Formats: sequence, C-alpha cells, structure tokens
Amino acid sequence: MIDEWDSPVQHLRRLSAELGVEVLVKRDDLLPFPLGGNKVRKLTAEFASLDSLPDVVVSNGAVASNHCRTLALLAAEHGFRSHLVLHGDRDGAGSARALALLDAVGATYDVVTDPSDIASTIEARRTEAAARGARVHVVAGGCHTRAGALAYRHAAVAAISAHRPAWVVVASGTGATHGGIAAGAAQLSDGPRVVGVSVGRTADRGTAAVAEAARWAGAEVEVDFRDAYLDGGYGRHTATTASAVALGWRNGLPLDHTYTGKAMAGLRAMVTTGEIPPGARVLFWHTGGLANYLLREETA
Ligand SMILES: *Cc1c(COP(=O)(O)O)cnc(C)c1O
Repeated sequence: MIDEWDSPVQHLRRLSAELGVEVLVKRDDLLPFPLGGNKVRKLTAEFASLDSLPDVVVSNGAVASNHCRTLALLAAEHGFRSHLVLHGDRDGAGSARALALLDAVGATYDVVTDPSDIASTIEARRTEAAARGARVHVVAGGCHTRAGALAYRHAAVAAISAHRPAWVVVASGTGATHGGIAAGAAQLSDGPRVVGVSVGRTADRGTAAVAEAARWAGAEVEVDFRDAYLDGGYGRHTATTASAVALGWRNGLPLDHTYTGKAMAGLRAMVTTGEIPPGARVLFWHTGGLANYLLREETA
C-alpha cells in the first residue's frame, strides 16, 4: 500500500569535534521523500496501519506545517484526496509558497483564523465527504497518533541496538516522536537516556503528551522533557537558537530555527554544563525542518 522507509545514521566527525561528544545523527531529514522529516515516518505508518487507503483524508495544521505538506504529497502520490484545515495567517512567513505547494499537489483546504473553528471545520468536511459516499480518514494534527508513536518505537529499537548511544536528543512537539523513541529505549536493557527538547510546550503540558504517546507505543516511561530551550516559544527564536542552527550548518548538518535548532541548543547546553560528559556517544535524532529553514521570514 504505502511503503515505510528507514533513514541512515551518520557519524558527524567535525560536529563531534566541535561539541566534544561523539555525535551520531539519525537522519530522518533524509527519509526518501521531498523535504523529509518525522512526519514522513509518522504518516507512512499511519496509512500502513489502515486496512485500505481512504478516498479522502482530512487533517489540520499550520499553513506552512510539515505535517500538512507531507500529507498532501502522500495523497497526490497514492491517489487519495487531502483536505486540510489550516490555521494561521495566509500572509505569514512563507505562507504563499506553502499554499502554492499544496495547490500544486491538488490538496484542498480551508484557512481558519480562529482556532476554535478548527474542530467544527474538520467535522463539517468529514461529514460532507462521507455524505458523498467517500471513505474518510481523519488524521490528528501533527499525526499525533498511535501508529506514529509505534513507528518511532520500532525505529528507535533498531537505531539504538545498532549504535548503543548513551543519550538520545530529539526535538519534541506534540509528543509521538519523543514518546515512541522513549518507549523503544525503555524496551532495551541498558537503554540510553532519551531527552526531548521542547519546541513550544511547557513541561507540564508536554510531559503528559509524551507519556501518553509512549503508552500508545506500549511502555510506561519516565519522560525527560526539557522546556529550557523554548527561546521565546513555538516558531520564535533569539540568537541562542540561531547560533545552534549555525553550528549545525557549518559542520554540514542542516538545522532549522523552529525544531532541530532548539534540539541542538539543548544538546550543546547539556554538554557545556557537563551533564553529558565529554566523549559520550549521543544519537541526535534529526526530525527534518528544512522547509522551515527555507520558508522562514528574513530577519536582520
Ligand atoms: C512536527 C515536527 C517535530 C515534532 O514532532 P512531534 O512528534 O510532534 O513531537 C519535530 N521536528 C520537526 C521538523 C517537525 O516537523
């Protein structure tokens, strides 16, 4: 139906030398799909979990979200329709280009400005399509689903067994990626510490979502979710994140300011404070974000 892929793990020697720890990178940004990223792994697993492909998929996300773009591309490739309930600003950073891409692959969408309209709009679109006789599948925003968390558990077991890191560091948003990886680590003896670096949520809210995702993936875990690198909140950043992004790029690793740059800022801080000791083997789980980098607003 839809193939599930895996991505390479790379030892980045120059980045390791600059950070003073052994950095292996799980390159989910290089999954074989345009612009890559964790939404590719989560969404391909979501569709693989269904008995058959639907006629119409309805989901939601920000106008320029990686989730919505990936879903729209998968739909075009496999011949089902995607309808997206997009929130935010048609005129925001990169919005015109993000919408042009959705148009190009034939996705349809609503842009709602009031977040309280999202759920009712999804329900209206679902009902309309079902009334036409279409088989409709609604995917939770960000593909925050059981299948997504399970996909990350499986990938984590494989990568951790093969490379035996002492630490895993990953950007954590809605929580299925982090929760799945934590569930995988928990199933291995002598598994690594899995640290999720929040890209938007404070620890109280974020920790619960990650714990729930880990439970979906079959494990009770002690969640390590850090909100110290929010750097102004979701989609915002200061020089702190920007310098972590620059650290990646100058060592050949593309990072972005919304997701992976914050994870790298967290890793760098944990090395600087000595929490992660010199020379330790760290698996930096790269979740994508090249589109965020390319579509970002020009800042001085
Ligand atoms: C969505 C996303 C995340 C967050 O993943 P969650 O599973 O929602 O925690 C991290 N990085 C990138 C690039 C993303 O697009």
